[in-house]
Amino acid sequence: MKRLDGRVALVTGASSGIGEATAVALAQAGARVAIAARRRDRLEALASRLRAMGADVLVLEADLLDEHVAQRIVADTERHFGKLDILVNNAGVMYLEPVIEADLGRWRRMLELNVLSLIASTQAALGGMRARRDGHIVNISSTAGRIANPNAAAYSATKFGVVAFSEALRREVHADNIRVSVIEPGVVETELREHIGHAATKDSLDAWAASMRQLQPEDVADAIVFCVTRPSHVNVNEILIRPTDQER
Ligand code: NDP
Repeated sequence: MKRLDGRVALVTGASSGIGEATAVALAQAGARVAIAARRRDRLEALASRLRAMGADVLVLEADLLDEHVAQRIVADTERHFGKLDILVNNAGVMYLEPVIEADLGRWRRMLELNVLSLIASTQAALGGMRARRDGHIVNISSTAGRIANPNAAAYSATKFGVVAFSEALRREVHADNIRVSVIEPGVVETELREHIGHAATKDSLDAWAASMRQLQPEDVADAIVFCVTRPSHVNVNEILIRPTDQER
């Protein structure tokens, strides 16, 4: 008997990085897993790996910037597997640049993905969880949700927002036996920094990351699995996890 036998998880942003590693870790622990992102080829490759491990997988090609997609992937998961126990809201982008020269269109899309789509998928999942008096929402914030740095104003606003949303949500739904956890990783070696358009910011962040032994996506996945495998009376509200070498 594995720790998550019988449980159903949905992981957003599962086509790379933390989401991909989390889908693998949840499947290894026995969960049935729905995996969502835009890049279908990456999701299909991951699904093949998971099925080779004996896992039951649902691939959901999804652009979460489309406002109805968050609800759709939750509904598809519930229809396919009969329920949704664990929602990992991981999909996110990090657009960094000084406020004075920021592309507000890009920042709007980042706010929509990192905050509004997370809220929408959470709202969609709560109905089934409340009816069954069982569920766990895991939201991925960041150390940038605890410390605000120059050139990261809007990214930090999204991640502080995720922390605030998670705490208010926890207080709203704990009486329904629904748990809420927020994970705040420091520097993780993924594709996230590749999308930074501002060259000077990207160079300095890349140099900073190269100066340390970065977290690997599997390290964060371990923290998520820890949260969702506690007994039902234990709610791990928050995990802040940095590389040992990361000071701030
Ligand atoms: P990746 O870039 O590897 O993963 C981001 C994921 O989000 C991808 O699967 C991507 O899939 C998905 N995504 C992006 N845009 C959309 C969209 N419009 N619709 C659906 N999915 C989308 O980076 P990470 O694994 O590092 O990032 C995962 C989370 O971790 C993010 O929320 C990030 O802010 C957070 N984080 C990362 C840290 C780090 O240092 N790496 C530190 C702290 C937090 P696709 O492109 O296929 O749609």
